[in-house]
Amino acid sequence: MRLANQDLLKNQNYIGGEWRDGASAIEVRDPANGELLARVADGSAADAKSAVAAASAAFPAWKSKTAAERAAVLKRWHQLILENADDLARILTLEQGKPLAEAKGEIAYGASYIEWYAEECRRAYGQTIPTHNPAMRLSTIRQPVGVVTCITPWNFPNAMITRKAAPALAAGCTVVIKPAMETPLSALALCALAEQAGLPAGTINMVVGSDAPGIGKVLTQDARVAKFTFTGSTAVGKLLMAQCASGVKKMSMELGGNAPFIVFDDAHLDTAVSACVATKMRNAGQTCVSANRIYVHEAMHDAFVEKLRAAITELKVGHGCDEGVTVGPLIHRRAAERVNDLVQDAIAAGARVELGGDFLSHGENYFAPTLITGVRDEMRIAQEEIFGPLAPVQKFSDEAEVIRRANDTPYGLAAYVMSENIRRANRVVEALDYGMVACNAGVFSTTVAPFGGCKESGIGREGGVEGMAEFYETKYCCFGV
Ligand code: ADP
Repeated sequence: MRLANQDLLKNQNYIGGEWRDGASAIEVRDPANGELLARVADGSAADAKSAVAAASAAFPAWKSKTAAERAAVLKRWHQLILENADDLARILTLEQGKPLAEAKGEIAYGASYIEWYAEECRRAYGQTIPTHNPAMRLSTIRQPVGVVTCITPWNFPNAMITRKAAPALAAGCTVVIKPAMETPLSALALCALAEQAGLPAGTINMVVGSDAPGIGKVLTQDARVAKFTFTGSTAVGKLLMAQCASGVKKMSMELGGNAPFIVFDDAHLDTAVSACVATKMRNAGQTCVSANRIYVHEAMHDAFVEKLRAAITELKVGHGCDEGVTVGPLIHRRAAERVNDLVQDAIAAGARVELGGDFLSHGENYFAPTLITGVRDEMRIAQEEIFGPLAPVQKFSDEAEVIRRANDTPYGLAAYVMSENIRRANRVVEALDYGMVACNAGVFSTTVAPFGGCKESGIGREGGVEGMAEFYETKYCCFGV
């Protein structure tokens, strides 16, 4: 891989300020063509222990720095990421597959968490509390929780790390991160820049490893860990929550979704179509907030499907580094096969493929951007998280019915409402049991607002002031006078 700054390409784990080899190596491959990109040290559970020890040793000095001192280092890190944005985006596209323009967007988005929390940590105010007893003075102070461990997924290999590490570090915590095995290069490049920015040894540590369960046990159960934060599937999240329970660790979970996308008959058609394509096809549909069930009012259905078909037809599939490409490969063959299974299951149950519906010859991980109609709630495609470029459309006829159907899932991450009627929009946004609702918009995630879900989609929030609160302990102080 040729980069302007070759120092970004790291293939060792980063523990206690040192780059360390592993006993064996993990191969990192381009999902578009299978090309070998790098071999990265395969970290072990023992490496995870060393990383936790390093983070624990670094914590007292890091938490004792003033907010302004921590902010200065974080701002240098932010600046270095921006200076190296083109290289970081190229690494991201090569190992993850998303189009280069999207990768550049993710680098800017990921960096924005570092800048924002560098600013926010200066406002870790406590309170003075009107006392209940004239002989006592009451107040609160906010202190960093301690060592924070993070496990992150491959779909946003940069931003899912900064969204956790930036507020944790800004609050005065030290961190250990296990990135996904599919995308370690983006993660390690972030560490290389953190080191260059002057983050002290042990404040940020990274262990890449194929033994996710073994490393995961250390990160959720080591007595020195105060808080665990995870982004990934609901199934793995539940397992890790159970592991955290033995030591009563604090935890945040960003898990799976099954987002409804509701198009009312009073929607603006073009807005609805472009929002749908944006949420559905971005990252080839591999985001936890991707529209998963598209409910269209029966009066709007045919016109919406026609326009959506035209918009999907215009997408250009290919290698993410090629000019004009808007949809890349899926992360691996298993992912493409899963999407195909969902399509086949829907067809067998009576759904109709309007567009796509099959693998593509570009490479073994490609699946065609697909439009399906005649979907019903009981089909697997409407029950499971699709994680692919597949838009399944179903009809509805009234507001109460669609709200009931939209809420009828164990998930509660993101939902979308398309309506030009302000009364209805307000009613429906309030009635949806989701952590986030976008109205007349398809891409809504931002540093400054809380991201997260309810029900089985997770616990806690990332981003905004809420995202910072996750890394503080509020201490009540009572002084007798
Ligand atoms: P996905 O299906 O999107 O890969 P996962 O939940 O399987 O989602 O993976 C998200 C992250 O969780 C990855 O870093 C992966 O290595 C890690 N992971 C998977 N299984 C376990 C486990 N049993 N213990 C700890 N981490 C795990």
